[in-house]
Amino acid sequence: MAIQSKRLFEKAKQILVGGVNSPVRSFGAVGGHPLFIKKAAGAYLWDADNQKYVDLVCSWGTIILGHGYPTIAQAAARAIAKGTSYGACHQNEILLAQMIREAFPKTIERVRLVNSGTEAVMTALRIARAATKRDLTVKFAGGYHGHHDSLLAAAGSGVLTHGLPSSAGVPESWAKTTLVLPYNDEKAVFQTFAKLGRKIAAVIVEPLACNMGVVPPEKSFLETLRCVTKKYGALLIFDEVITGFRLQWGGLSESYDPDLVCLGKIIGGGFPLAAVAGKKAPMELLAPLGKVYHAGTLSGNPVAVAAGLATLAALKKINPYARLEKMAQKIVRSAEETAGQKGIALTAPRQGSLFTLFFTAIPVKNYADAQKTDTRLFSKFFWNMVNSGIYWPPSNFEACFLSNAHADKDAEKIANAVHRAIKSL
Ligand SMILES: *Cc1c(COP(=O)(O)O)cnc(C)c1O
Repeated sequence: MAIQSKRLFEKAKQILVGGVNSPVRSFGAVGGHPLFIKKAAGAYLWDADNQKYVDLVCSWGTIILGHGYPTIAQAAARAIAKGTSYGACHQNEILLAQMIREAFPKTIERVRLVNSGTEAVMTALRIARAATKRDLTVKFAGGYHGHHDSLLAAAGSGVLTHGLPSSAGVPESWAKTTLVLPYNDEKAVFQTFAKLGRKIAAVIVEPLACNMGVVPPEKSFLETLRCVTKKYGALLIFDEVITGFRLQWGGLSESYDPDLVCLGKIIGGGFPLAAVAGKKAPMELLAPLGKVYHAGTLSGNPVAVAAGLATLAALKKINPYARLEKMAQKIVRSAEETAGQKGIALTAPRQGSLFTLFFTAIPVKNYADAQKTDTRLFSKFFWNMVNSGIYWPPSNFEACFLSNAHADKDAEKIANAVHRAIKSL
């Protein structure tokens, strides 16, 4: 099976580092070699061996309307015909920023378009440090906010320890500016602020954690973050790179009033586009108005902006969210029922259409809990899904993503494959 993918991976390794341009694509967490994709359309991917898969990765959540969605493809093609990059202002930048603001009426007053989620978060933190004249950032273990230096820090041993670099090449002095707390641990937040509150520039959080698998926030966790940051004069940054336009038109920010919001993935319609946005006062610290520097040759790229506009317009019109949720429910129910019959430990957190199957009996509230999943069982499950023609995320710590191109029969096919795969474990 997958002979061409295997051949291409051998070839790729001779020139691309590890054969990939982003590590999770290597299938390192599940063993074996990655599938090379030749083509995508609607809910499907085709690999180099012409095998067809139902796609549950959807470019890590980006492709919410399905691959090659007509109005997005047409908008991008029309933009390309007018030149691919200006390095200058153009009208559609205003329209996209307005549409983003309209989707976050309480949270977003100003927008800066950038090229990646990493860049959005990096810029948001720089703004927060400038706004507060403080250096420390609080993040939560298992939260992923891109690969820039200050947030590649993992938890130390205890609640109040400073972060240690989780990547080589990150200066210890940088990692030390990042305090890593357990997700959903309000007590740790209170303790940390009681001790260091006046030195903390910002708390950054995924309002629904999606990068340790899906881990929903507990009832008052996000309110507490808003309360405590306000009390100590720190900024609250919501990283909605995944959740923005994934669970509703707009995001989770509107209920919690963060100072800054990071968007990415969906808003670029499959092109490199992201945004840092938020309240006027901190945002206007950015150059050219303020002293926080940010720039980008391709920022607001006309092709990406056209695709983003078409995406948000289509999402607003179609409002696919209830449908997406129903399909996810069906898949998760199939997993839970089968695991119940088989006596296999399974915890399947789901919010909207986002879900993860953890192979553990304990409720998953944070990164330490997520680590209890049986990754060997997951690998078996994963390859079983691949063999059934389902492209499941190749790591137990990634969310599954559906698109509106998935028909009910695709969800049915996935649910059936999940049933067979868990039954065979
Ligand atoms: C994907 C992601 C990022 C990074 O975005 P890139 O475009 O890959 O740089 C940041 N935060 C969250 C929550 C993400 O899921």
